[in-house]
Amino acid sequence: MNKRTELSTETVWAGEKDYRAHGASQVPVVNSVAYEYGDLDHWYDVAKGRAYGHIYGRNTNPTLASFEDKICRLEGAEAATSFSTGMAAISNTMYTFLRPGDRVVSIKDTYGGTNRIFSDFLPHMNIEVTLCETGDHEALEEEIRKSCKVVHLETPTNPTLKITDLERIAKVAKEADALLVVDNTFATPILQNPLESGADLVIHSATKFLGGHADALGGTLCGAKHLVDQVFHYREINGATMDPNGAYLMIRGMKTLDLRVQKQCDNAEKVAEYLSSHPAVSKVFYPGLADHPNHDIAKRQMRRYGGVLSFALAGGMEAVKKVLPRLEFANRAANLGAVETTVGPANTTSHVESTPEELDALGIPESLVRYSAGIESFEDLKNDLENALAILEES
Ligand SMILES: *Cc1c(COP(=O)(O)O)cnc(C)c1O
Repeated sequence: MNKRTELSTETVWAGEKDYRAHGASQVPVVNSVAYEYGDLDHWYDVAKGRAYGHIYGRNTNPTLASFEDKICRLEGAEAATSFSTGMAAISNTMYTFLRPGDRVVSIKDTYGGTNRIFSDFLPHMNIEVTLCETGDHEALEEEIRKSCKVVHLETPTNPTLKITDLERIAKVAKEADALLVVDNTFATPILQNPLESGADLVIHSATKFLGGHADALGGTLCGAKHLVDQVFHYREINGATMDPNGAYLMIRGMKTLDLRVQKQCDNAEKVAEYLSSHPAVSKVFYPGLADHPNHDIAKRQMRRYGGVLSFALAGGMEAVKKVLPRLEFANRAANLGAVETTVGPANTTSHVESTPEELDALGIPESLVRYSAGIESFEDLKNDLENALAILEES
């Protein structure tokens, strides 16, 4: 191939043809725990990795392989593997590369579950964790240079949409001989490809935008084969394997990934602007807004600014409790990236694990609402918000 195919074409076609069967035009869901071999020599060759095939469902499965090929192509990676959830992708990657005595450097604003791995589980294994202020590139560079094994980044972050310059940190990580892992869940491969910026490994919670329909859990890891193979081996033994039915939902969802993400960006951009000028809203967090502290980096690093924003209401938590129940076209739920607009206070969603003191330390306002734009008409979303926010004027 002379030119890389456009992402919108890859979402539809990548990873499909190699896995079809019986002349069907769609990839089958292979609900089989094990694979039967009449020829024992052939079985032995597959088991030893000398011939292509599948042995047992915890290790590999054709439907999962198709899903893995699709995300691999979308991230422009050499290899990919999958997991039961996004958290399994993150934890298995950390447990594969970190040993007692090692050091990992990350940021304070990672996803709540990721933050728990860093604050609870890794320290118990005598792994030193340093979490820098998100967006403070100098602090990150300094900590990475002190020596570290793994750097874990997320950009944009959940829920305050902070941005880290991937090229800049990748350079320092390389010099320090550290692996740079990037959670690309919020941007999706449509908006940002961290491997091109110098990251070693890219993770997705496929549960969010990749699946896109809030009906299946999953996670992925993409990168160089010799790295992905090591994490695959950890996963196949430790068992956080994805279900084939879930993998099928991911494959089907991903065919419309580009369409959905473009529409979600349209809506998020306009909602962010609309809320910015609303008197009841005290602050809007969205990397596409010119007043975002790292708008310039986002502009350079991302193709667009994403489908998620967050906002704080001047009336605090009391106002949030009045406004959110009045939204007609939004699920009040702990999810994001779905075709339906989804809203929720940060303290019930991404940071449900955090105490009020921890939220304060993270600079997350008590009344912060995460708004994940769906694919509805912007006019309807705007009217819905206007209508819901109007209750604050009534009292
Ligand atoms: C949801 C999420 C995760 C965890 O994914 P699960 O599939 O729920 O385990 C990790 N990172 C980010 C940024 C997320 O939004």
